[in-house]
Amino acid sequence: MVQASDLPRNEDGIAAVIGVLKQRFGEKFQTGQSIREQHGHTTTWIKNQAPDAVVYPQNTDEVAEIVKTCAAHKVPVIGFGTGTSLEGHVNAPAGGICVDMMEMNQILAVHSEDLDCVVQPGVTREQLNTYLRDQGLFFPIDPGANASLGGMTATRASGTNAVRYGTMKDNVLALEVVTPQGEVIRTASRAKKSSAGYDLTRLMVGAEGTLGLITEITLKLQGIPEAMSSARVSFDSVDAACQAVMMTIQYGIPVARIELLDSLTVQAVNAYSKLDLPVAPLLLLEFHGSETSTAEQAELFGGIAEEFGGTGFEWTSSAEERNKLWQARHDAYWASCALRPEARGISTDVCVPISRLAECVTAAQEKLDALGFIAPIVGHVGDGNFHTLPLVDMDDPDEVSKADEFVGWLNDLAISMGGTCTGEHGIGQGKRPYLKKELGGAVDMMVAIKTAIDPDNIMNPGKILPSE
Ligand SMILES: Cc1cc2nc3c(=O)[nH]c(=O)nc-3n(C[C@H](O)[C@H](O)[C@H](O)COP(=O)(O)OP(=O)(O)OC[C@H]3O[C@@H](n4cnc5c(N)ncnc54)[C@H](O)[C@@H]3O)c2cc1C
Repeated sequence: MVQASDLPRNEDGIAAVIGVLKQRFGEKFQTGQSIREQHGHTTTWIKNQAPDAVVYPQNTDEVAEIVKTCAAHKVPVIGFGTGTSLEGHVNAPAGGICVDMMEMNQILAVHSEDLDCVVQPGVTREQLNTYLRDQGLFFPIDPGANASLGGMTATRASGTNAVRYGTMKDNVLALEVVTPQGEVIRTASRAKKSSAGYDLTRLMVGAEGTLGLITEITLKLQGIPEAMSSARVSFDSVDAACQAVMMTIQYGIPVARIELLDSLTVQAVNAYSKLDLPVAPLLLLEFHGSETSTAEQAELFGGIAEEFGGTGFEWTSSAEERNKLWQARHDAYWASCALRPEARGISTDVCVPISRLAECVTAAQEKLDALGFIAPIVGHVGDGNFHTLPLVDMDDPDEVSKADEFVGWLNDLAISMGGTCTGEHGIGQGKRPYLKKELGGAVDMMVAIKTAIDPDNIMNPGKILPSE
């Protein structure tokens, strides 16, 4: 099991910062144990390491003031959105102050003519899309949880739409960031492209709060397509389903979503979301465009699916049916956990080049069967990214050790295939052992960047980079 190790604490500094911030922020500064624990890691098997206090700033100036106070005493600062990250990202292994962005949740501007908007980091993806709907716009990145846009930016998140619209790295135009010294910088303008110097926006996207706190995000938006349709088709094996995905992508069909659910996930989703999908490996798709182009895409895909033995191909443009299917897909994590309620679901997140996808998913499934796990598999397979979810009895050391062995084996396999140990969840604490294996000497450059920007290592210490 991944043990999040504790780091040395700066007791005097922490006490001094608590004294200053408590007086300054009053009710907006909390030190109660349950609030602190809620702001440590809560989602997986990584142990909870609570911060010493949680503060709720209202604006950028307050964030800068908090960071300056922490910097003066060399005390850790940990950004917090909705706490749905999966690799111990929000833990406080050296203690410190959690900066919860929940109350910085204003949509500051929508420039519909430019297809962009400016939001505070506590805005959630659902909040933004509800706000945009009447203007015929949407923001496409949709992790399974209703995460904050600050957290999504900091983890370089993606979701089911990434195959068509990209990930957070493709959809953030600019950021306002509070540096580890408490200065406020802007990384770019609203221009759709720029060659102006180092790309600090992209450096901050995915930095998991280790280089600064994000206080404003400028995002690209999309027009709601004239027509959307969804489709589903079942296969005899995950291998056949993945082969069909590979052909679809290589053929250049501009699918908006193409998601794999293995038989076990279909069974779980049927029970949880009251559906009656055939219990077999399933591909769920969505097409965006005009009436004609979505019909054409569906027809082309239907032909490919048939070639790989796909059965029961159905497509619909009914919004109600489409929403029902995609809601079920978004609830697949909870549906899967319900297969063994007393166990913990441990989500893996490998991503491989599309040509190796079928091989990688099939090998993972065989290994999970051999280890005797109940382990549903879902995948954003158009990008070569999939999640296995072994359901692990945390009171059984043998099971825990087998799960650990599996996670390591799968990460190594993906890396050996030219892939990555994390397509979208990030490194946090849990995946740190794999970063060097994946990127070798590039990690030394990351360490150099971190040391230059945050020499006292106060920004979310103990994350991403190797502990030495
Ligand atoms: C059921 C479920 C399904 C999921 N599905 C997906 C999925 O499909 N795709 C995907 O990518 N992820 C998925 N995730 C993981 C998670 O939702 C994402 O990692 C998400 O981006 C985290 O956002 P958050 O607001 O919860 O961030 P948090 O967990 O609060 O924080 C995540 C990281 O960002 C940092 N941070 C937060 N706010 C700021 C800020 N303002 N400035 C600087 N750093 C900050 C934190 O310090 C931490 O390192 C899923 C999680 C769950 C529980």
